Amino acid sequence: MQVFKFGGASVKDADGVRNLTSILLNQPGAELLIVISAMGKITDKLEELCKTYQYGGENTQQIFEEIKQFHFHILNDLLPDHSNPVYDDVANTFVEIDWLLEDAPDDAPDYVYDQIVSIGELVSTKIVSAYLSEMGCNVKWIDARNFIHTDNTYKEGKVNWEKTEQEIQKHLVPVLEKSIGVTQGFIGSTSENFTTTLGRDGSDYSAAIFAACLQADALTIWKDVPGVLNADPKWFDETQRIPQLSYHDAIELAYYGATIIHPKTIKPIQNKNIPLYVRSFLQPDAPGTDITGLNNHLPVPSFIFKVNQALISIFPKDFSFIIEENLSDIFSLFHKHKVKINTMLNSAISFSVSFDHDPAKLEALIADLSVHYKVKYNTGLELVTIRYYNQQTIDRVTVNKNIILEVKSRHTCQIVMRDKVV
Ligand code: ASP
Ligand code: MG
Repeated sequence: MQVFKFGGASVKDADGVRNLTSILLNQPGAELLIVISAMGKITDKLEELCKTYQYGGENTQQIFEEIKQFHFHILNDLLPDHSNPVYDDVANTFVEIDWLLEDAPDDAPDYVYDQIVSIGELVSTKIVSAYLSEMGCNVKWIDARNFIHTDNTYKEGKVNWEKTEQEIQKHLVPVLEKSIGVTQGFIGSTSENFTTTLGRDGSDYSAAIFAACLQADALTIWKDVPGVLNADPKWFDETQRIPQLSYHDAIELAYYGATIIHPKTIKPIQNKNIPLYVRSFLQPDAPGTDITGLNNHLPVPSFIFKVNQALISIFPKDFSFIIEENLSDIFSLFHKHKVKINTMLNSAISFSVSFDHDPAKLEALIADLSVHYKVKYNTGLELVTIRYYNQQTIDRVTVNKNIILEVKSRHTCQIVMRDKVV
């Protein structure tokens, strides 16, 4: 049993769907489930639709029309025969949103968000599945909501693993013995059958859930890059593909902000010891990255950059020592304001923390901290995390920078810095 995941970039247009088809047609005939995201940037567009609907924008209908046109355009390119039942099927999916948009937006916003945004995946899988059938693949469209069971946390559904695994074993395994399954990433359902989503970019996670519950032999994530790179090409000239990664390193890289794989993806497959292959859908035969339990390969130094960082330093008002009681107090305020810490360092009389700069959160946090502490802060900083660092790699990223904070553990070095003023 194999699980393949194709993200939005791989199905952003008709040629993308054709390319996906040729990848499948070149596979040896193993049992296979394909997990697909919404096409291109449609999830962003659906979020925009939600916003205008809920907060009274005027162009709700226009945005929705663009979303429909985008999909019908691709469908028309792939399947010019309009008597194909997929046309009605896709139209009916849109009608449900039409009905929802006709009502006043008085349901809970996160609930409404999930009902609207989830149609991106529903429609993309309907189109891909119809095209694969037309090309002679024996496929079956599968509603992921019958299998991925979550609680009622809309926008960030928490998976009910027991029920999910049970349903997959009982009802999905027999289907996949007969046909290739085509299903949605990102979506699930509550015990009352309302649609939930698993959080933005959650399709990798969906694929990992399916792979784990199916006891798959491997999960392959098809991407528009040659594999996991040791840095984002946006920031780095000479990036290197990492041929082999351990689960642990993959989790660390995702945790520090490498955007290649959703951070929640690794744990479920690591628990079942299922290898994760990252492959390029543009060069399907190229080697890519294998993520496994093996840990005997040479580490490749990796760099993760984050801009727009804030750094605050917190001092007891009387300049007394920072003690555990202060730390507990400080952490609870970070928790209260939902500020996720990127780096931290304490000294005798101060505690410094860096995090992604969100002006509203920063202001509220400082207001609360200032009741008991003196607070200094900086914004507009950069954070670089180097996994498997050495002095040479540190020198490379700190050219023309002033280092403001540096934290090192055995394998990871984090540097908060800013451009040198010359
Ligand atoms: N379509 C969803 C998103 O863009 C899920 C995913 O692509 O992973 O966030
Ligand atoms: Mg996506």
